[in-house]
Amino acid sequence: MTVSILYREELREYDFGVGHPFRGDRYEIFPKVLREHVSEGSLYHIVAAETCSEEDLRLICSQAYIDFSREYFRAANLGETYERSMEFPRFHSLDNLPRGRPGKLEEAARMMIGQMKKAAALIIEDHEEILISIGGNLHHAKPDYGEGFCIYNDNAFLAKYLMKEYELERIMILDTDAHQGNGTSEYFYSDPRVLFVDLHQDPATLYPGVGFANDIGLGEGKGFTVNVPMPVYAGVDSYRIAFEQVVEPVAKEFKPQVIIRNGGSDAHFADGLTNLGLPIEGFKLIGEKVRLLTQECGCCEVDIIGSGYNIQVLPSAWLALVGGLANFGVEVEEPVPVPDRFVQDLVADDTAKVVQQVRSYLTDYWNCFR
Ligand SMILES: [Zn+2]
Repeated sequence: MTVSILYREELREYDFGVGHPFRGDRYEIFPKVLREHVSEGSLYHIVAAETCSEEDLRLICSQAYIDFSREYFRAANLGETYERSMEFPRFHSLDNLPRGRPGKLEEAARMMIGQMKKAAALIIEDHEEILISIGGNLHHAKPDYGEGFCIYNDNAFLAKYLMKEYELERIMILDTDAHQGNGTSEYFYSDPRVLFVDLHQDPATLYPGVGFANDIGLGEGKGFTVNVPMPVYAGVDSYRIAFEQVVEPVAKEFKPQVIIRNGGSDAHFADGLTNLGLPIEGFKLIGEKVRLLTQECGCCEVDIIGSGYNIQVLPSAWLALVGGLANFGVEVEEPVPVPDRFVQDLVADDTAKVVQQVRSYLTDYWNCFR
């Protein structure tokens, strides 16, 4: 099987500047590391996608927000302050304000949406089973706001685009980023066509501070939002429990036509912004679990890889994830020393309790949780 990996060099423009945790160099470093470990050709090939149109953006954003973003970045590149940026605080947390001149950051954000259009075509028209997209994972972005380093929500775009263009009716979004995907969650909170399952660090301890076990959706969408707040320091055993007790049974009952998984390396124990406990083998586990689940559900999968705030760890974790997804058989070593408390998963019992709680909130909606 040859896996397509969506990637283009210009993604490096998605860069918030010196001193900001989100830099664009990740998009140069990772493809190099990938090519060093696994040669391009028989196992994978890199595919460059076109950017998206303004009409595409309107699928997930208000026109006012699109106009605001364009004008905001245009002004910032001239070293000016966009006059309406205080009137409409659309980048309402300081983390979305680039340091210095943002260059083509907004164009790169559009390219990430373009990659999702290409991903949809490759899985639906060309019947590719596993499709990997490097870049994006902008799961905090909302129709009218950007936050958490996210401008336009590519995860939400892909799900909406698949429903609109290809009339799909059952899409599972599996968010394994360390942060809860509050943007994506809001798009589909009352939509039963999208099963949103999110494993993230306990929101009592991390941005964005939402996504507790009892947040399960609204109206017709009730039961189709599944939040698993992972305890601080959760490691491999914890993630295995969450997959086996929540993710896999609910996926098999929902029978998705497409699985969209998103998340990068920020659940690693050495990540600078989070407090989870996954070693490198945990990312391989996630990749393998998602590949096997896709096969069992008889569906296809788009994997969106973007986050990570320890640049020493990021390429190894992404490689382990990609290796697990595409079954490359590549061994990836831990790039940093493992502190004693992360040699074993010391909070697996706590995770088992959380998982029981998650299941108990959802017994009315899923047979597998009864
Ligand atoms: Zn994150």
